Amino acid sequence: MGKINIEKQDSVKLYKIRKTLEELSKKSGRGTELITVYIPKGKQLHEIISSLQQEQGTADNIKSDLTRSHVVDSLGKVVQRLKLYKKTPDKGLVMFCGALPSEEGGPLGSEVVTIWEIDPPKDLNQYLYRCDDHFHVDILKDMLKDDNLIGFLAIDAKDAGWGLLHGDKIEVLSQTGSGVAGKHRQGGQSAKRFQKLREMELSYFYNRVAQTTREYFIDIYPVKGLIISGPGPTKEDFINGNYLEYRLQNNIINTIDASYSGAEGIREAFAKSADILGDFRMVEEKKLIEDLFREINSNTGKGSYGLQEVIEYLKNNVVKTLIITDNTNLNRVEGKCKRCQHLQEEILERPLVIPKKTEYRNNPCPGCNSMEVEVNEQDIVDYLEILAAKTGTQLEVISGSAEHGNMLTSLGKVGAILRYNPGHAK
Ligand SMILES: [Zn+2]
Repeated sequence: MGKINIEKQDSVKLYKIRKTLEELSKKSGRGTELITVYIPKGKQLHEIISSLQQEQGTADNIKSDLTRSHVVDSLGKVVQRLKLYKKTPDKGLVMFCGALPSEEGGPLGSEVVTIWEIDPPKDLNQYLYRCDDHFHVDILKDMLKDDNLIGFLAIDAKDAGWGLLHGDKIEVLSQTGSGVAGKHRQGGQSAKRFQKLREMELSYFYNRVAQTTREYFIDIYPVKGLIISGPGPTKEDFINGNYLEYRLQNNIINTIDASYSGAEGIREAFAKSADILGDFRMVEEKKLIEDLFREINSNTGKGSYGLQEVIEYLKNNVVKTLIITDNTNLNRVEGKCKRCQHLQEEILERPLVIPKKTEYRNNPCPGCNSMEVEVNEQDIVDYLEILAAKTGTQLEVISGSAEHGNMLTSLGKVGAILRYNPGHAK
């Protein structure tokens, strides 16, 4: 059996990229002035830098003074950042840069040149430079899609079916009949001749199946692995006969004994394949949630939920695994006094963030009455990540719209599996 080789992605990193792209999609420039640069892996940085410097020269032709200075400043910022890298990061690099109004709004000309740098989640093979009225985020968005495809083949001597697993969806591609005679011969034929004919027909069928399997799972949907199912020993005969193209032959993840072949067999095999596909993210998420609910429901004291409680345990180094959905829309706002370090903080939904920042900024420090309160905000996951790193806690961001994320939503979107029952603490 081949080993399934699915690239494991860091859920926190993917969450952050997704969030940043959402934010960038909403930005628009006052003119054609927002810079997008995709630098493929292995590309020499000095080539990129010199081509961006040329663009800076071309920008002198832009008629509007404001747009021209925005483009020149943004390109300058990108070049300046690139010079801080010794070489292109392993998977490539993406930069977005533009002069954008501060979030509280501001007069024309008060825009601030802001830059975002993103390590792509997988190898970037494409170069792109754009200066436009929006950022070009689609290439990165495509990279976030789960492209771990798994092929299914359900076969017996009567028919064969093909299916494709993509994310958490199984799609039946097609099925075909074998045309192979049943095991029992009609009268008038010698047993030997009947057997010989049947073997020839089967071999012809297996070759046909191998051909279609190759077309589907090498040419059209390159898969990470193949699962072969069906009733009886036909699937083993097919595998042992080495009919499959070697790449597929080496990529057989497992076989599954099933009652059906063909299209029905595909659905059956998928239902039975959860253990085999343990590396799939949706299966991982299911397991995380099941573990959490097991602790909660069995009253071990090791299951916790609700943001305030979980943060408290996290700060006290009691949390083993922290699970949060990707749709909390929560941010942490802090106001820190520059004079006495007094800290005010609150976790709020997005629309309440700016009013809270304004409140901190416009009121004296409760500790020393100074007006020098420095205000900052961060996404809830960034905040939790910092706390989790201090205590060696595993942080997992799961999809809030999927089935298991929904179960966590009913508990306030945040849950934790604890290292021990804090009620029994020393
Ligand atoms: Zn103070």
